[in-house]
Amino acid sequence: MDYASTEEREIYFWKSIADLKLDIEKSEEDLIENYALTIAKKAIRKEINIDYAFSQMLKIVSASEYNYRYIAFYEIDEDLNYLRYSNSTLYNTELTLENSKEFILEEMKIFVEMEELNIFPEERAKWYCETCKNLNNPITKNKFQFKKPFKYAVWTCGICGSEKLKYNSNHDVKRIIIEKSKKN
Ligand SMILES: [Zn+2]
Repeated sequence: MDYASTEEREIYFWKSIADLKLDIEKSEEDLIENYALTIAKKAIRKEINIDYAFSQMLKIVSASEYNYRYIAFYEIDEDLNYLRYSNSTLYNTELTLENSKEFILEEMKIFVEMEELNIFPEERAKWYCETCKNLNNPITKNKFQFKKPFKYAVWTCGICGSEKLKYNSNHDVKRIIIEKSKKN
C-alpha cells in the first residue's frame, strides 16, 4: 500500500468504498459502515495487517465526520501521539506504546460486536461506577477545598453519587455495555 501522494491514497479509499457498493440505494453512511466492518473483520481474522486496518479506520473517522461508531480509533490515535511526546494519555489509560497493536485489535472486536448488537449511542456513552456497579450517566458535582481553585467540579455516578467511575473508553466498561445489551 505504498502510494505516491495522499491524494492517490484518498482516491484508493473511496474506490474501496465504491467496490462494496452492492446496493445502489445505500447511503454513504451505510457504505462507510460496511467498509469499516469489512476492514475490522479482516483484521480480526488476521487477513490484513493491524497497522493497515488502523490507518483505514482513521480515514473512516474523518470520512464519517467523527461519527460516534468510530471515534474510539481517533482517540487511540491521539493517545499514541501523546504517549510519544509526553508519555501520557487523554482517553485510554490502559494504552501504552508496547500494547498498542493488541489494544487496537481489541477495539476492532468491540467495534464489530457493538455494531452487530446495534447498541445505541446513549448506551455507549454510559460510564461504570465501581461503588454501586452500575452503568450510569455521570453528573458533575461542585466541590470545595482550602487551596486554589477553591471550587472545582468532579464527575460523579448518576445513581449513587460516587466518584469512583470508569470512563466509557475503558475496554472493561465497553465489555460490560456489550454484555448488558445481550441480556436485554
Ligand atoms: Zn454508583
